[in-house]
Amino acid sequence: MDLLGPGSVAPTWVTGSCQYWYISDYLNQARRLIWIWAPWTTPRRVKSLLPVLTDAVGRGVRVSLFVRDPGDPLQGRPEHQQYLADLRAVLNAVVEINVMHQKIVVIDEKIVLLGSLNVLSQSRTREVMLVMHGAHFARRLLQDERAEDFASPPRCGACRGTKIDLRRYRTGDWHWRCYNRGCPSRSSGNRQPWTQPVIRKQPSKGSSG
Ligand SMILES: [Zn+2]
Repeated sequence: MDLLGPGSVAPTWVTGSCQYWYISDYLNQARRLIWIWAPWTTPRRVKSLLPVLTDAVGRGVRVSLFVRDPGDPLQGRPEHQQYLADLRAVLNAVVEINVMHQKIVVIDEKIVLLGSLNVLSQSRTREVMLVMHGAHFARRLLQDERAEDFASPPRCGACRGTKIDLRRYRTGDWHWRCYNRGCPSRSSGNRQPWTQPVIRKQPSKGSSG
C-alpha cells in the first residue's frame, strides 16, 4: 500500500535537544489547521509552546489538542490540569481521551511530525520525531485517528457540563462520557455516568478506527 502518496517528499529526522526549535518553527508556519496529540501537559513545556499556539490562533489557525483524560494519575495532577486549563482558554478544541498515548502534530493537512516526543510534557529524555511532507499521508493519518469525529465533545446530557472524556468499548465503539462526580446521572437510580456514542462524520476506509 502506498502510504505516502504522490507529491510527498522523503521524511526527515528530528532528534535530541533541538526538537523544540523545530516544532515551534513548524507551528509558526501553520496557516489553517494544527492538530496535536500529546498525552500530558506539564508546566515547562506548556509555558514554552503556549505563546506559539496563541499566535497561531491569533492569525486564524484552528488548533485542536488531544490529551489523556484526568483519570490518569499523572495527567490528573492539579498542576497538569492547571496548564491544561490555560491551553483550553486559548485553543479551539481540547479533547480528553482515555489511555491516549499518541505523539503526533499535523500542520495544514500536509506536514506530519510523528514519533516519541510528548510535545507538551517532555523534559529530559531523548526522543525522535519523523517529519513527513505530503497531503496524502497527512489526511490518511487524520482519518485513521478520527480527528474530525473526536474534535467536538458534546455537553453532558445530564449536567450540561463539559467534563467529558472519550472512551472506547471493548467492542471497538467509541463513546463520550461525563466524568463530573456531581453529575445527576451518577446520583440517579442506575448510578451510571452519562455516555453518548461518537457519531462518525468521516467515511471509514476499512481501518479499525
Ligand atoms: Zn454530567
